[in-house]
Amino acid sequence: MNLATVFKPNLRLYSFLSRFRYPFKKSYKSKIMLVAFLGTHVPLLSLLIYFIISTSLAFDVKVRVIVIALLATLVGTALTLYALHNLLVPVTLTFVALRKYLSHKELPSLPTEFTDEAGILMADTSHTLKKLDEIIHYTSNYDDLTGLPNRVLFRSRLSQAISQEQSNNHLLAVISLELDRFKDINNTLGHSISDLLLRSAAHRLSNCIRELDVISSFDSNKFAILQTHITSLDEVITLSEKLLNALEQPFSLDGNQIYTGSSIGISIYPHDNSNVELLLGNADNAMYQAKQKGRNSYQFYSAELNANLQERLNLENELHDALKQEELLLYYQPKFSLHSERIVGVEALLRWNSPKRGFISPAKFIPIAEETGLIVPIGEWVLRTACAQNMTWQTEGLSFIKMAVNLSASQFKELNLVEMTAQILDETGVAPSYLELEVTESMLMENVQQGITLLQELHDMGIALSLDDFGTGYSSLNYLKRFPIDTLKIDQSFVRDLVLNSDDAAITQAIISLAHNLQLSVIAEGVETKEQWDYLKANGCDEIQGYYFSRPIAADALAKLLASHPTFPLSHRT
Ligand code: C2E
Ligand code: MG
Ligand code: MG
Repeated sequence: MNLATVFKPNLRLYSFLSRFRYPFKKSYKSKIMLVAFLGTHVPLLSLLIYFIISTSLAFDVKVRVIVIALLATLVGTALTLYALHNLLVPVTLTFVALRKYLSHKELPSLPTEFTDEAGILMADTSHTLKKLDEIIHYTSNYDDLTGLPNRVLFRSRLSQAISQEQSNNHLLAVISLELDRFKDINNTLGHSISDLLLRSAAHRLSNCIRELDVISSFDSNKFAILQTHITSLDEVITLSEKLLNALEQPFSLDGNQIYTGSSIGISIYPHDNSNVELLLGNADNAMYQAKQKGRNSYQFYSAELNANLQERLNLENELHDALKQEELLLYYQPKFSLHSERIVGVEALLRWNSPKRGFISPAKFIPIAEETGLIVPIGEWVLRTACAQNMTWQTEGLSFIKMAVNLSASQFKELNLVEMTAQILDETGVAPSYLELEVTESMLMENVQQGITLLQELHDMGIALSLDDFGTGYSSLNYLKRFPIDTLKIDQSFVRDLVLNSDDAAITQAIISLAHNLQLSVIAEGVETKEQWDYLKANGCDEIQGYYFSRPIAADALAKLLASHPTFPLSHRT
């Protein structure tokens, strides 16, 4: 049914009444009420006129009839007006709902269960306003072409994220990314292809980010990405490389093979600024620098972060060659038994003697080796060299001692760790009881069951196992019981202030008695003073490792120490 043919609008009466002043001009209800009032008085007026012109009825009859008719009209009018007032509620409700939405963007909650015209008016108004609101929200917050959040929504998310991160010490990265060669593509292949390119690029970029991050279409060929909850800049580097890589692959669009790349600029909250506009501006500036440097690259805004990044990249490149160029070597630090007063073992500690930089601290290069995976071949080299060295000392007739080697988390995840260790023991001829592997709690906690199985296999071979840096990680007693560990190594952070800080002293005592109760031996690392030594001895610690006895030293120096001082020199004890 065509509503337009059924409903022929006739606004004559409505516009006639609208000409009158207050209340008819402004109030629809008063127009209806007026018409109803007049309508209900027609019988009374007709009666009155009839009585005036009629002479046949007695006067008192006329008066009685008129009074009754008047009363009936009054009651009838009152009831009619009251009912009409209530029946007009849907119209007034709809009117109020529309006004509220227009002035305050407030969505109505009109009833939707009625099926007559007034009911449908309310339901349709409610539905239409909701739809309208969604469309307005979408068009003002999202980009039409890519469907990604636009700059308005991005700014508001960034400002929300800044206020959240103020309470937890995370970093935020604002990444500004521009497609390279976009103008050329647009000029040569036309708008429809460049639109397709933007859509596909948006899709690829969206696949690189996590759900909690935000990606936005900023300008024609510019995207902005907000990376949240960052704890290290490496996470930003990894994401930037992923984004560059995603756009480096050619796009196949409408029969065209299109190669584009991108340039990325990064600003970091709170390092570079805490203000939304400045963070965005800084990321843009960095992006322009990246463009000038050559395409397909990323650049941090701050010179300091760029210098760190450069330094890291240089170290990473040099570390690749270090193993081949034989720049790596091992130092050995003795472990001294407080019971037998003898050196009972050594810990092999990796050193990098770079021809360019001199000795580099493991704290600086081991994390890089971990991230690049280089720790796996390096770790294998450490194990082989340490075992071979132990065999050399044994064949030289020096005391048989345990060689402790640190394992890294990545080595622990390698499937062939057990086979590789067995093979090295076999190759070098070292008995498993003269090898000790140091692991950390965090390594084991990554996959507890797998950790237990692996440790058990190593333990079954006769290799000793110790838990390094104990007390700094989870220190879960429940797990401790399940790991086949022989020794706990009290972390040096507790040993450092042992004599001055009663909390550290209490923790150290607790670790010693915990170890003994679990039938484990306990060693303190980082012992630098006589006071620490005496305290640990008095509290039943089994072994000591630290500068007080000896720093980590080269293999020949250790051989001399073993040969000339099998026991701790008396001079140290005074
Ligand atoms: P770690 O296994 O806890 O080694 C103990 C660290 O404390 C060593 O630092 C050692 O030189 C230092 N140290 C020993 N006694 C004292 C002392 O009295 N005072 C002070 N302040 N420090 C002392 P280093 O050699 O710099 O090694 C640092 C960390 O690097 C090691 O901590 C270990 O986690 C890692 N690492 C070293 N070599 C290797 C390796 O071959 N493989 C793996 N995966 N990690 C290694
Ligand atoms: Mg260690
Ligand atoms: Mg340690």
